[in-house]
Amino acid sequence: ASVRSMPTEVPGTNRVQDRTAPVAPGLTDGFLNAPDTDPSLAANRTWGDAIRARMKGSELGNATVEANTLATPEQVDAAISAAVAAGEAWRALGAEGRAAILHRAGDVLEARRAELLEVMGSEAGKVIEQGDPEVSEAIDFAHYYAESAKDLADVDGAIMQPVGLTVVTPPWNFPVAIPAGSTLSALATGSPVIIKPARQARRSGAVMVEALWEAGVPREVLQYVQLDGRDLGTKLVSDPAVGRVILTGGYETAELFRGFRQDLPLLAETSGKNAIIVTPSADLDLAAKDVAYAAFGHAGQKCSAASLVVLVGSAAKSERFRRQLVDAVRAYDVGEPSNGSNRIGPLIGPAEGKLLGALTTLHAGESWLLQPEKLDDAGQLWRPGIRDGVKRGSEFHRVEYFGPVLGIMTADSLTEAIDVVNDIDYGLTSGLHSLDEDEIQTWLAAIQAGNVYVNRGTTGAIVQRQPFGGWKKAAVGAGSKAGGPNYLVGLSEWTDAPVSS
Ligand code: GLU
Repeated sequence: ASVRSMPTEVPGTNRVQDRTAPVAPGLTDGFLNAPDTDPSLAANRTWGDAIRARMKGSELGNATVEANTLATPEQVDAAISAAVAAGEAWRALGAEGRAAILHRAGDVLEARRAELLEVMGSEAGKVIEQGDPEVSEAIDFAHYYAESAKDLADVDGAIMQPVGLTVVTPPWNFPVAIPAGSTLSALATGSPVIIKPARQARRSGAVMVEALWEAGVPREVLQYVQLDGRDLGTKLVSDPAVGRVILTGGYETAELFRGFRQDLPLLAETSGKNAIIVTPSADLDLAAKDVAYAAFGHAGQKCSAASLVVLVGSAAKSERFRRQLVDAVRAYDVGEPSNGSNRIGPLIGPAEGKLLGALTTLHAGESWLLQPEKLDDAGQLWRPGIRDGVKRGSEFHRVEYFGPVLGIMTADSLTEAIDVVNDIDYGLTSGLHSLDEDEIQTWLAAIQAGNVYVNRGTTGAIVQRQPFGGWKKAAVGAGSKAGGPNYLVGLSEWTDAPVSS
């Protein structure tokens, strides 16, 4: 197996890393994930302080893409034909040739880590502790898909063909890792890409795209377009030249996309309403800490976030668990990411609609274990809330809110708790805290979710180790998981290799 040394402190540099060992071991040699920045090293803390200082009202990122110039219909057409034309040469490079460029992209993303963190903080409210693993994930996608495409190109008896022009429409909540993952996967297979960043995260997307250009992905092969309003988006997505649309967003958006064109080749990772079950055998203190982080990291604005905790049997009455949970959540300071003590940043926009309801209104039988608190006039900064006594079949049991509010439910048995969780329309992530092997096996055999975590929170899937994707209404047209061995299969067409006699 290849070995890459862990980061060591290098005097005089602002980012601590060691890339002397092979950067891109083949998957079969043992893929190694990019390390996150280690905050226990003094140099890294200074590095983080400098990034946060630049977040304050700075001109964001060094991206040369004009992050606010919207494309016209003619420019959309031109982008489509240019990408299709350039796709030929990109495909002709072969998996090896493209992998070399993608590995370089991973290295450029690493080199631009600070800039990516700065722009995610200023533009999307991401605190460094949340953004840093996201950059690592983007880097992992580059190296992982580069090697994965090489492996697929070798499959006996079949020839892999790229699906052709791929339109990537990422969300704002992971403004670097998700656009990077979708883009890099399509590029690895040999398809050209048009990426339309989320309106709230255009600059983060632009810096990511620039990193890929810098690494050698031709600009015609990877096009960045900004659109406003539904008409142009519809036009782009439904163009007959489009071979695949990779969407990460709400389930309703996927439904909307499917309405555009009957045979839309859509691969969508959509919503989640995720629960962590805690049984009496669990380490309740660990469970409280994991639930707090999974529920409120990035203010709960993750598809993978825990929105419910289901306490089983005697755990249902546990005062200790509730006290520990409240303590853990109160320990998170809320405020702008430019302040280093804050762990929860602002929401992407003012809380409104369903989310505002969930932050302000209780339903029958519920009470606040911790009442949410609005800290600014705009309604973007909220101290998180925890509602106790959520009832099966109630709105809070079923609806995704995508914000800083968690519900506590109870069940008499593990079987009942599993029923409560499987009753939800989405099956993205799910958690179990239990120290009982039988319970763990029972849960694993029955739980309906793509990503299942035992004695760990539900967020922060790691490329290769925890390929990410869901069941039921958490996925539309997506059969395989991002960052896993089969993801590129869904972005490829296959023909049998000619048989020679
Ligand atoms: N992959 C992310 C995680 O595991 C979630 C992505 C999302 O929210 O769409 O936390």
